[in-house]
Amino acid sequence: MEHCSAKYLLRRSLHNVAEEMLKTRTYGVGRICIVDGCGTLLSAYNPSSVCALHGASWEDDFLRDARKSSRRQEFSCRCAFEPCGREFMTTNSAKKYCTDSCRMKAFQARVMAARRMGDMCGARRAS
Ligand SMILES: [Zn+2]
Ligand SMILES: [Zn+2]
Repeated sequence: MEHCSAKYLLRRSLHNVAEEMLKTRTYGVGRICIVDGCGTLLSAYNPSSVCALHGASWEDDFLRDARKSSRRQEFSCRCAFEPCGREFMTTNSAKKYCTDSCRMKAFQARVMAARRMGDMCGARRAS
């Protein structure tokens, strides 16, 4: 009986800890509104980076603009997996394949080719 109640208490205290963590979760103290010239100190419980006056819609606009200006130029590339050879648009110059599945297939093809080469060498050596 004692054992059971101890377990119950443990579970209860864990639950309380989790609840406490949720309750005290903050977004940082001492942040100010990101709007130029506003300078309103944000509440640590305010998940946004602007004050109540500037609100969520303002932040959306701001983020949209930031995204727009930071967007890199897309260019077209040809998939390096030869049986595919599809053209795709990317902003990443290191990207060689149109999709991950092409990347995997190309990788597997390379492994297979290497294995074939290995077999050929082995056969030649054996004969
Ligand atoms: Zn503000
Ligand atoms: Zn491809």
